[in-house]
Amino acid sequence: MRMIFMGPPGAGKGTQAKLVADKYGIPAISTGDIFRANVSQGTDLGKQAQEFMDAGEYVPDEVTNLMVRNRIDEDDAHPGFLLDGYPRTLAQVEELDGMIRHTGHELDAVVVLTVDPEELVQRLLQRAETDGRSDDTEDVVRRRQEVYTEQTEPLIGVYRERGLLVEVDGMGPVEEVTARIFGALQDVRES
Ligand code: ADP
Repeated sequence: MRMIFMGPPGAGKGTQAKLVADKYGIPAISTGDIFRANVSQGTDLGKQAQEFMDAGEYVPDEVTNLMVRNRIDEDDAHPGFLLDGYPRTLAQVEELDGMIRHTGHELDAVVVLTVDPEELVQRLLQRAETDGRSDDTEDVVRRRQEVYTEQTEPLIGVYRERGLLVEVDGMGPVEEVTARIFGALQDVRES
C-alpha cells in the first residue's frame, strides 16, 4: 500500500497517519517530523531547513525531494509507505511519481482531510500551548495556511483527475475520523 495524506496545517494528518500506517504495517513518513528531528540534532539538513520552517515557508524542493528519496529507499518502506506532508508542490508530485515508478509500483490512494478553517486555527493555537512548536505562532500559522492554499491545494485536483482522491471529513473526535478513513480506504481497495 502506497498512500499520501494531505490536508491543511492542523487537519490532523500526523495523528491519523500514524494510526493508519500501523494498521497496514507500513511506515508513516512525515517530512515535518524528519525536518524537526534534523533541526534538533543540528545536522546540515536541519540547518538548511530551519529558516524556512520558522517562517512558515516550504523547504526548497531539491532538499525535500532528496530527503524523501533516501527515506523511501530504506528497507522498511519496501512493502509500502504512508507519506504525511509530502508531496506539497507540483514539482514534488512529479518527483514522487518518478520514485514510485522506479520501484515498479503505483500510488494507491491520496487521503485528504477536510476541516473548517475556524477549527484549524483553534487546533493550532491549542497545539502551540501544549507542544511549543516554534512554527505555531499566530503569524507563522497564518502564513502556513496561505502557503498551503497557494501551493498544495492545487494538488487535490491533480490526484482527483487520476482517480486516487479519497476525501474524508476530519471534524470530530480522533477515533471517529480514523473510522471514516478506514471505511473510505476499504472502498478503494474493493473497487
Ligand atoms: P504542518 O502542521 O504545518 O502541516 P509539518 O509538521 O507537516 O507542518 O511541516 C512543518 C514544516 O516543515 C513546513 O511548514 C515546511 O517548512 C516543512 N515541510 C514539511 N514538508 C514539506 C514539504 N513536502 N516540502 C517543503 N517543506 C516541507
